[in-house]
Amino acid sequence: MSTSKAFHSFNRTSVRSNSLLGRYLVAESAVNGNELLVEEAPFVHGPKCNGPTVCLECYAPVKCDSISSALDQRCVKCKWPLCAACSESGAKYHSQRECSAFCQSRTKFYPLQDAAKECPQLDCITTLRVLLAKEADPERWEREIAHMEHHNEERRKLSDVWNADFVNIAQYLRGPCRLADRFSEDLIMQVVGILEVNAFEARTTQGYGLRCLYPITGILAHNCVPNTFRTIHPSEGYKIRLRAMCDLDEGQQLQHSYTYTLNGTAQRQEDLKAGKFFTCQCERCKDPTELGTNFSTFKCSKCEDGWLLPADPLDSTCDWKCTLCTFKTSSNAIKKALSVMQSEVADIQAMEPSPQKLQETEKLMRKYRVVVHPFHFIQIGLRQNLIEMYGRVAEYELAELPDVMLEHKEELCRHVLRVLDVFEPGLSRTRAMMLYELHVPLVLLAKSGFIAGVVSADQLKRKLLDVIAILKESINILQYEDEETQEGQLCKVAQQAMEQLTQSVDGLTGDE
Ligand SMILES: [Zn+2]
Ligand SMILES: [Zn+2]
Ligand SMILES: [Zn+2]
Ligand SMILES: [Zn+2]
Repeated sequence: MSTSKAFHSFNRTSVRSNSLLGRYLVAESAVNGNELLVEEAPFVHGPKCNGPTVCLECYAPVKCDSISSALDQRCVKCKWPLCAACSESGAKYHSQRECSAFCQSRTKFYPLQDAAKECPQLDCITTLRVLLAKEADPERWEREIAHMEHHNEERRKLSDVWNADFVNIAQYLRGPCRLADRFSEDLIMQVVGILEVNAFEARTTQGYGLRCLYPITGILAHNCVPNTFRTIHPSEGYKIRLRAMCDLDEGQQLQHSYTYTLNGTAQRQEDLKAGKFFTCQCERCKDPTELGTNFSTFKCSKCEDGWLLPADPLDSTCDWKCTLCTFKTSSNAIKKALSVMQSEVADIQAMEPSPQKLQETEKLMRKYRVVVHPFHFIQIGLRQNLIEMYGRVAEYELAELPDVMLEHKEELCRHVLRVLDVFEPGLSRTRAMMLYELHVPLVLLAKSGFIAGVVSADQLKRKLLDVIAILKESINILQYEDEETQEGQLCKVAQQAMEQLTQSVDGLTGDE
């Protein structure tokens, strides 16, 4: 494959293709977990569709108030949204792309009363950036983007979305933006589809969302148990780095999860169908127990110890049967029960963090114990919420938590980690976060045990060494994150915690 090294580099990765899978990536030779596989800059980055009014350079929300010019955050040239800081620094990315097109066509930006509301006028920006990049480098477009999947046949059937895109993007670019001579309707809708199917969501260092199109990483195959880990680096022009999540064999297909791995099979299937237009047939999806985790398993209501599992997890209309008795129930009954639970969970999640929210979450988890398996994704989700709250909300701050609650937080973390061992077995951001959360109760419990005299100095030392190993694993994952992001910041905090612990272990004179 002739790739231009200027844009990306492959480390031990090659592109293959066949009629069934289309283009995909494989490991050229056996690689170790953590190894860098692909590194590349985005073909373009730009605002997400259906987003609020944002700066076209840094994606921070801006106000474009047409009445008072002091509040007007716009590009001096094209008058489209640009924050004051970006205006001052020249807004290179915006200036070299849509700015001159808008200036030439005198296309006006019409500010919304409420800048936080969806701003359909910005829906065309990312598409336009791809089109302009195609014009600037047609060979690169041909080589890297033209063959990307766009699923326009299926997308056309979702007439609401298709029509909105057609009006807001294709007709808008060809009409008010006067680009009809340069870009056909078909080409524009092809780019819209390519972005929809292949773009990755990213965050700025400030945490604002955007989307990026990567020629190589974009063709990664999907698996609900991914074997790669990606980091996007806002401080390096949104460069992406793809690493092996775990050890890989020579010729093994590289896979990434395009859905949230901590959702149950039915939900993941639905998301993939709607967003990526395919039915996942991975081992996890085909297994009613989701690889033994029981991540979607219900409790049988007719017998003591039976579990309800779908007869065929890939068929959303199949019956669910008990593993012990003869009871079976319809998929509709299961869907109904799930949607009731999900709306109860959503109500609580909408609450501001507070002691009441924590207590309500605990109550819900207890209530569902008789409904679903302890490792059901609803329960794992509630555990994640609780882990975040213990030690952070009023009345449950770390210094106030009694040992039983610290032990409870430890158990919550270990439960989530057991699931992650199966679904994200290696380099995983969620795993790094969980390990970090786990270290805190462990340190406090070891120390309080020592003070109470039930833990000897030697035992304390060993416990703290265990905690250091946990922090090390967390840092080992977070070290690959952009330093300017939240995860990068957490890496620094974890490193400090590890240094402090190492010092206190060194200060302990345990009798060995
Ligand atoms: Zn800006
Ligand atoms: Zn401009
Ligand atoms: Zn799957
Ligand atoms: Zn039963």
